Amino acid sequence: MASRVTKTPRLAAKWRKLAETRCAAKGERLTPARLAVYAEMLASDRPHSAYELIALLERRQERKIAPLTVYRHLDFLMRTGLVHRLQSAQTYLPCDHPDRPHESQFLLCSSCGHVDEVESRGVETLLSQIADEHGFRPDNAVVEIKGVCGTCAVDDAR
Ligand SMILES: [Zn+2]
Ligand SMILES: [Zn+2]
Repeated sequence: MASRVTKTPRLAAKWRKLAETRCAAKGERLTPARLAVYAEMLASDRPHSAYELIALLERRQERKIAPLTVYRHLDFLMRTGLVHRLQSAQTYLPCDHPDRPHESQFLLCSSCGHVDEVESRGVETLLSQIADEHGFRPDNAVVEIKGVCGTCAVDDAR
């Protein structure tokens, strides 16, 4: 379990290609430093705070890394749609389908820390209906649902 994030990340060729294509489409470049942050997130199965990411990168690269640099890379990764930021936990996770623009909802497990990114047209429609009824123009609708994931719920029941 603990070894999971200390391994050299093997960034699946598919993800790397997807990320590069996505950046190119936005006229941006996925530099090795940006890729390193992204790879660290892909190598894990739960979201990380910026400080956790800095610690992971420092351990792997065996040098000090300026927090500001990592924040800048995170901004880049969010801008290009490769990464999402969870507002409630202030953590970051790689997007499940960075190949197209979308609104997401997140299911956060308070037991194992796993987060599922889901997409529901129904939720989106409902949210814009509610906003419409109030003459409200939303910039950004974040839906984060906290609870216990299916795996943890099964373990609990045992
Ligand atoms: Zn996404
Ligand atoms: Zn869980």
